[in-house]
Amino acid sequence: MAENKTVTMEKLVSLCKSRGIIFPGSEIYGGMGNTWDYGPVGVEMKNNIKRAWWKRFVQESENSFGVDAAILMNSRVWDASGHTTSFTDPKMDCKECKSRHRADTLIEAHSKGKVNPDAMTNEEMEAYIQEHHVCCPVCGKFNWTGIRTFNLMFETSRGVTDENQNKIYLRPETAQGEFVNFLNVQRTTRAKVPFGIAQIGKAFRNEITPGNFIFRTIEFEQMEHQWFCKQGTDSEYYALFKKKAWDFLIDLGFSPEHLRYKDHDKLAHYAKEACDIQYLFPMGWSELNGIHNRTDYDLSRHQEYSGKSMTYIDPVDNSRYIPYVVEYSIGADRLMLAVLSEAYEEQTLEGGDVRTVLHLHPAVAAYKAAVLPLQKNLAPQAKEWHAKLSKLFMTAYDEAGSIGKRYRRQDEIGTPYCLTVDFQTLEDGTVTVRDRDSMEQTRLTLEEAIRFLTEKVAFN
Ligand code: ATP
Repeated sequence: MAENKTVTMEKLVSLCKSRGIIFPGSEIYGGMGNTWDYGPVGVEMKNNIKRAWWKRFVQESENSFGVDAAILMNSRVWDASGHTTSFTDPKMDCKECKSRHRADTLIEAHSKGKVNPDAMTNEEMEAYIQEHHVCCPVCGKFNWTGIRTFNLMFETSRGVTDENQNKIYLRPETAQGEFVNFLNVQRTTRAKVPFGIAQIGKAFRNEITPGNFIFRTIEFEQMEHQWFCKQGTDSEYYALFKKKAWDFLIDLGFSPEHLRYKDHDKLAHYAKEACDIQYLFPMGWSELNGIHNRTDYDLSRHQEYSGKSMTYIDPVDNSRYIPYVVEYSIGADRLMLAVLSEAYEEQTLEGGDVRTVLHLHPAVAAYKAAVLPLQKNLAPQAKEWHAKLSKLFMTAYDEAGSIGKRYRRQDEIGTPYCLTVDFQTLEDGTVTVRDRDSMEQTRLTLEEAIRFLTEKVAFN
């Protein structure tokens, strides 16, 4: 993939908007802060990312099963998980310009990443901000409120009359849907521990400082895999999932130089081991995904709060225990941003022309091929090719403008192959197949092209 790191967030946002990848949410009403809509190209890419993940972590994973749990859950779930009391961020308001900030983010930015606020208490963070005279990044003044904790869960209410409303929450993570279904999945699949439950779905967080395009939004999708195992084997599986998470990224086309592990300095009270994989985003190294050894905390808490036993009975030795959980969690949108930024290149060609190209893994690209008639009078033959290929692959069709311009348009959305129908097609039934990355061309018949594309677009 591209070594060239000419990519900036501005360039990505602009390409995404102009090429139908991602649009600002509710744009015609002036937008709605930090919401984004995926366009015709973006929805295909994101679906392909989710498919690749599901293939790797469910389809090809022995003893892993999928669920699709409800977004709205009984609010006791969030009491049990600890979210109602402790899913908070340390917020500070600037008394001058009224902007709101996270104390930890202020410290990280001020120290240029040298101080890690994760290991600090609220009092220590306040002291640091005072001592180092950390000013408001919006107005430059130094006039802060103290730190107050702010719960990130979105509340809503459920009830058919105004008087009779129950407070419920939009889920802030998908993981609880896997935990509450642990016994349902185990019973119906007859799975034996160790086994996994995976889910892809929306999560919502009232983030204090969202931003950086789709890196941190208030509504996003998570891809989570929980591995239920016996205490004593947990660390071994933790190491395994660290590697699986890394390998998945490498297989998607990431360069290892743009990825690194980062152990958590301050472990959550229930966690035994935890780390992130960070990616070198355009704004710097930031979390892409997390891997956590969550011990038996989640299932024990659900047992306590629901009154239902979460005990697993081992059919071989009849031992009874609450399994440990190793969690792997990655945001689909955050991964999409990483994929886009890794793939982006402004390439100077011989002769000095510059082309923008997305070197996407073909499995991720929205269109696997584009069919282009060399001239408009070849459109009937080209449309036939398009119709046949569309039964098997997402295939684009474009007859507008010079062939060079059409190649560039496909390069910009990462279409790996352009199939040009020309006059030779009428004679021998072959088309020119142009490779996005090398720009080399070969000729293939329809059957050959189908075989070729099938092989190239697979995610293995
Ligand atoms: P961060 O420290 O960036 O807030 P986190 O540690 O709270 O993230 P987790 O709760 O572990 O994140 O969530 C798992 C994954 O979900 C993250 O690694 C990230 O990929 C994604 N994610 C979390 N919050 C957001 C968000 N607000 N917008 C987009 N993706 C997110």
